[in-house]
Amino acid sequence: MSATVIDGKAVAADLRARVAQAVATLPGAPTLAVVIVGEDPASQVYVRSKVRETKAAGMHSRHVELPADTPEADVIARVRALSDDPAVDGILVQLPMPAHIDAQRVLAALDPAKDVDGLTDTSAGRLALGRPGLRPCTPAGCLILAQTTGETLAGRHAVVLGRSILVGRPVALLFLGADCTVTIAHSRSKDLPALCRSADILIPAIGRPEFVQGDWVKPGAVVLDVGINRVPAPDLGADKTRLVGDVAYDAAAARAGWITPVPGGVGPMTIACLLRNTVLAACARRGWALSTGL
Ligand code: NAP
Repeated sequence: MSATVIDGKAVAADLRARVAQAVATLPGAPTLAVVIVGEDPASQVYVRSKVRETKAAGMHSRHVELPADTPEADVIARVRALSDDPAVDGILVQLPMPAHIDAQRVLAALDPAKDVDGLTDTSAGRLALGRPGLRPCTPAGCLILAQTTGETLAGRHAVVLGRSILVGRPVALLFLGADCTVTIAHSRSKDLPALCRSADILIPAIGRPEFVQGDWVKPGAVVLDVGINRVPAPDLGADKTRLVGDVAYDAAAARAGWITPVPGGVGPMTIACLLRNTVLAACARRGWALSTGL
């Protein structure tokens, strides 16, 4: 068997197009504010894409860039000001923050109605309770990708590797909300190969390059590889690197029914889901009705 590749780029482009269509029907353009502290190069690249895609979807973008040595109190004050600003619909605080800043205290200053990353205690609580709310973007992207396969999710066994606040826990709760039977595994779990082989839907999110072996994959399973790992690629030249996922792709693709590549799988869904959350947050806060489904 050879897996069907789930084209995350195409699914994300479709979602971004639907977001742009929805924005065009609204009485005003939503505004997304991104707060970044410091010069982490990966975060800078990511923030630039967010700004570009926000504008491409017809929305306003505000970019708050603070030096790495900004005191925590000042960062909190900026987030609080954005929370209080009626013109701002969504706020994203780019993580990780410099070491002297407690991200939890910064997130606590964020109005949950504008929490488009779904990371505040309120958003996490709503997800845990199965109540409506803004969902974390990468996990929401995983669920959309699983739904695009057309496979029935209800009653299927979803195994999530990783229990982080950012990915593992919320993705597990989202698949539980989709009526999957969910197992969360982590670094202390026993016999990961056997756990993985029992998965109809396997979602590795651990940040370990090609950790999940091909023969850990149940034949026909849906594999959603969240991991993004940069590894040396001597075949491309000295000092060259490439991105790989948490799954040994070729061997896993030989057994899986569906699989996401890295790059081009789960990754592109994150910004698309962020844009969707910004529209949903704007509509909920401003009492706007969406004329198209998102
Ligand atoms: P994280 O905070 O470092 O969490 C990693 C999780 O994996 C932890 O729960 C850890 O278990 C578990 N783990 C680590 N080694 C393990 C092992 N050998 N066996 C079983 N479990 C193990 O990472 P994260 O933020 O969740 O990110 C995970 C991966 O997803 C990274 O590669 C990251 O780059 C990627 N990511 C991608 C996107 C995207 O596609 N846009 C977004 C976010 C993250 P313990 O809790 O027991 O320590």
